[in-house]
Amino acid sequence: TTQLFHVEYFNNDAYLSQSGQLYGEAGAMAYGKIFTFGPTFRAEESKGRRHMTEFWMMEPEMAWMHQDESLDIQERYLAYMVKQVLENNEYELRILGRDPEKLRPTTEGNFTRLPYDDAIKMLQEAGRDIKWGDDFGAPDEGYISEQFDRPVFIVNYPTTIKPFYMKKNPDNPKEYLCADVIAPEGYGEIFGGSEREGNYEILKKQIEGARLNLEDYQWYLDLRKFGGVPHSGFGMGFERTIAWICKLDHIREAIPFPRLINRMQP
Ligand code: ATP
Repeated sequence: TTQLFHVEYFNNDAYLSQSGQLYGEAGAMAYGKIFTFGPTFRAEESKGRRHMTEFWMMEPEMAWMHQDESLDIQERYLAYMVKQVLENNEYELRILGRDPEKLRPTTEGNFTRLPYDDAIKMLQEAGRDIKWGDDFGAPDEGYISEQFDRPVFIVNYPTTIKPFYMKKNPDNPKEYLCADVIAPEGYGEIFGGSEREGNYEILKKQIEGARLNLEDYQWYLDLRKFGGVPHSGFGMGFERTIAWICKLDHIREAIPFPRLINRMQP
């Protein structure tokens, strides 16, 4: 897609990875539960304080797992991380000007699972110009996050605005079984995840529907052919999560050498 960086690889075309997920799925089929953690690259020309062209992503992938259980794990993971920071780094948080008390509710878990449809209604009732099928902009996510004292899941987005590998909601084929975690205080999306489509034929159709080259994804399809199991996973944006926890003004403050559209060095 246009979000990828193209590189020449010994007379072949190659692309810097925007996620380790597809390989993570292969790992999960072999080992059950795995994670990848590495740099990822996005060529989208986003300005603003939440996007870099290179960032790190923690990506768990879990076999024998449906989306609801993955949401439970994401909630516990985030609550645990924040609890550890509060226990070990309260002093540093105060140096950064971050009020630790604002993080406290997150340690209790119990995050609202707000259906996409309801999030759209919430925004419309607040007078925002948005309709079913639109993706949320930063101000929309900001408004939603202000309604909660802890992160909130927005669940089950329309298939038209999410990637091809997600599993359709059996109760509503216009939606995927997916969720984004929206951080409080206007920090926006910090996690994105879904159940993965496990059926060979359906996945093939979704790859074709996304106008991707089937040959490039044959190995990924083959994972379904040779004994796939239900599985789910998610990606945590490392610097975005740090930016929220530390209440930083800009994502570039969460990494030593930020790469942005107008900054490559150092
Ligand atoms: P957005 O809509 O905010 O651009 P996305 O939907 O493209 O994000 P995913 O592909 O779901 O994001 O990636 C998983 C996570 O990686 C996001 O929740 C976010 O925390 C992080 N992330 C995505 N793009 C960037 C970026 N350009 N810079 C820093 N972090 C990012």
